[in-house]
Amino acid sequence: MGVKNPWEPVQTYSNTQTPRLRRELSVNQGHKKDGSFGILTTQVNKLLDWSRSSSLWPATFGLACCAIEMMSASADRFDIARFGAEVFRASPRQADLMIVAGRCSVKMAPILRQIYDQMPEPKWVLSMGACASCGGVFNNYAIVQGVDKIVPVDVFVPGCPPTPDMLLFGLNELQRKIREHIPNPPDPLKDSGLKLVGPLGEEL
Ligand code: SF4
Repeated sequence: MGVKNPWEPVQTYSNTQTPRLRRELSVNQGHKKDGSFGILTTQVNKLLDWSRSSSLWPATFGLACCAIEMMSASADRFDIARFGAEVFRASPRQADLMIVAGRCSVKMAPILRQIYDQMPEPKWVLSMGACASCGGVFNNYAIVQGVDKIVPVDVFVPGCPPTPDMLLFGLNELQRKIREHIPNPPDPLKDSGLKLVGPLGEEL
């Protein structure tokens, strides 16, 4: 009686939850949440570049197998909406990004250029895949050996076909170019003086 058991188990950890202490920032410790907007300083052109790069609207324009990968990029697994570019427009008048997804035939070249011309400024072009970028395996008379001979291409995405995440990486690079205010490359037709002509020789 009265002697303490030396082998009595010692409970180090409690199974009961200790109540959380209320953590409140004092007035002198940092910013107190009061619902106000605070102050943000920036430049108007930076704000415009940021908003343009975060809301690219691609023209719905798929030429070949690469277009399937482009469609996957807008589906739920890759979700191009995370980068604000999910609004594929059926009219070039409402689009500011042309994703050339697939090989472009010589017959299709004037139409591609016409769609590009109908897009309002500022606008950008992303060449998706080996065929669009350099003709790919189709080194023949029927396929344009790189759409940069027709339209100024801002970003080339390599691969046959490029995976949707490669397209997203290309999109991120384009966003970076827009935010850094890097201008479009020179227009190949305006610079060279070349003209696209239709099947009857009419100028397009
Ligand atoms: S790069 Fe490959 S996947 Fe893309 S259009 Fe050409 S052949 Fe098809």
